[in-house]
Amino acid sequence: MSLPEGVERRSFGGNEWLATEGEPVYGEPTDGSWRRWDPRRSKLGAMFELGIDTGLDGDETVLYLGAAAGTTVSHVADFAGPTYAVEFAARPARELLDAAAPRGNLFPLLKDARKPETYAHVVEPVDAIVQDVATRGQAKVALANRRFLEDDGRLLLAVKPRSEDVVQDPSEVRAEVVETLEACYEILETRSLEPFHGDHFGIVATPR
Ligand code: SAM
Repeated sequence: MSLPEGVERRSFGGNEWLATEGEPVYGEPTDGSWRRWDPRRSKLGAMFELGIDTGLDGDETVLYLGAAAGTTVSHVADFAGPTYAVEFAARPARELLDAAAPRGNLFPLLKDARKPETYAHVVEPVDAIVQDVATRGQAKVALANRRFLEDDGRLLLAVKPRSEDVVQDPSEVRAEVVETLEACYEILETRSLEPFHGDHFGIVATPR
């Protein structure tokens, strides 16, 4: 599995890490213009580290749902094209604005990802949706945002089963999420994000 152009493996402290080129955002180690991308702090980083085929080559237009303070989406904007970052909580969104300041291609949207009609006038058709909202109804959020995704695009979804139901067996939640997604998406891969995020699994899908 190849990494997108703009994502490299580089040495930090004698170990190989993923890295992108851009302004640091969260105190991560840097080497010249390169910044370390820690897969333990990023589900998309974990997908790359695990060799999951994301279909990303670099330079894609991306809609990122659940941007928080911008840890992962800042790396995405380092290698991608226009990157729309949706986050509904005001507090992390302030730091997201700081991450976006030096990145002319990163557009923060203080919006609810369950209400895509509130940002449909801003977001253009995208090559990839990256979603990490970790709240109940994760599959429904992916369905609601399908409208933005090109027909040959990719959905890269991190799912936290405990956010759906704290007591239900995670494998049952996983099956239900996949079943819900199948209304609009063909599932290409489903994989645990262990050892980086023990309580999450990743899904790669494409529109039906
Ligand atoms: N993806 C981030 C990263 O790797 O840097 C971490 C995301 S954190 C696990 C989940 C984020 O999703 C939280 O900041 C939360 O406020 C946001 N979120 C949850 N539900 C949302 C919704 N419906 N619309 C927008 N953001 C949402």
